[in-house]
Amino acid sequence: MLQENSNFAIRWPKGHRHTEMIKEHTSYSLLGHNTFGIEAKAAKFIEFSTEDELATLLKNGVDAPLLVIGGGSNLLFVNDFAGTVLHSAIMDMAVVADDSDTVLLRVGSGVNWDSLVEYTVNNGWHGLENLSAIPGEVGASAVQNVGAYGVEAGELIHRVEALAVADGSKRTFTQGDCRFAYRMSIFKAEEKGKNVITYVTYKLKKSGDYKLTYGNIKERVEALGGATLANVRRAVCEIRAAKLPAPENIGSAGSFFMNPVVSAAKADELAALYPQMPQYNVPDGVKLSAGWLIEQCGWKQNPHPTVGVYEHQALVVINRGGATGAQVIAFATEVCNSVRARFGVELKMEVNVIE
Ligand SMILES: Cc1cc2nc3c(=O)[nH]c(=O)nc-3n(C[C@H](O)[C@H](O)[C@H](O)COP(=O)(O)OP(=O)(O)OC[C@H]3O[C@@H](n4cnc5c(N)ncnc54)[C@H](O)[C@@H]3O)c2cc1C
Repeated sequence: MLQENSNFAIRWPKGHRHTEMIKEHTSYSLLGHNTFGIEAKAAKFIEFSTEDELATLLKNGVDAPLLVIGGGSNLLFVNDFAGTVLHSAIMDMAVVADDSDTVLLRVGSGVNWDSLVEYTVNNGWHGLENLSAIPGEVGASAVQNVGAYGVEAGELIHRVEALAVADGSKRTFTQGDCRFAYRMSIFKAEEKGKNVITYVTYKLKKSGDYKLTYGNIKERVEALGGATLANVRRAVCEIRAAKLPAPENIGSAGSFFMNPVVSAAKADELAALYPQMPQYNVPDGVKLSAGWLIEQCGWKQNPHPTVGVYEHQALVVINRGGATGAQVIAFATEVCNSVRARFGVELKMEVNVIE
């Protein structure tokens, strides 16, 4: 029986020296804090590294408005930010329960997501391997319910700890409380802006099946010698590197739009007109490929000098260099208009737009 026991605590990263210190800056450039590569300034930028530091900050009150960021890989700044940007540097990680087949791993919200995935794979813990190489940090994995190759982080999240923005009090959300759905959670809905996530606990398995049915993972894994955690991670990293822009080379926020879900009647109508259109049955209707719709509208050939879509994946809007947030929004609006005019389908942005 799985019981939580702090005696199991291991600390991570190895050699990480914990320095308790709140770092505070004024008129701070956010260029290095958003993967879109947009220049914007925060009136105040504060980084905390423990729950106690965060509690003190919130109890004393910070200049409004407040924005909590992780790695900035799903943010689009349209203007300078007039209030306080908060960033978690809570970096500890501990096994809080362990039995013959399950591990509960409690991870600080500031830990880099892919470092966590690599760590779990190296320890032989199953669950996160398909989510390799997604940019960002642990806190946002619960906000965004990050997903890839048939797995969503929400399936593995056991508990989320946070402090309430209003008064710094401690809050705990079970998996059910989080109401995870496609790129969605309670933290993007009713609880939006009300919490700063401090820790996320993941429930991982010591053995298990591999999910290889999405994309061409199965072939890649077989080419690498068969299904192991390390081979699944390597296959996912290789496939992603071939079709997604590396944030250090090309500015983007990954998928800019969500894949739209339409009614079965609308899907049939579209299938009759466009027999090659990819369609996937989901519980609430039929999911279409936003990338396919955008590509059909000719956006891979678009002539904009600063903003465009990525040549290997039309769902990814890229900053070709020097784009402003307003230019990205204007471009995205043109893309949405063209998809609506041609297919009668509404695209919604996945990226968090910060006005
Ligand atoms: C090249 C590329 C590929 C990508 N591929 C994928 C993919 O395959 N699947 C996928 O799901 N996503 C993908 N993304 C999007 C992105 O990586 C995820 O959404 C990721 O979870 C964002 O993490 P972050 O730490 O950068 O969060 P941020 O972008 O900084 O923030 C995202 C949201 O979380 C909130 N937030 C962040 N930290 C906290 C906290 N501690 N407490 C409270 N709220 C918080 C922010 O306020 C914001 O609303 C990709 C992005 C890029 C650039």
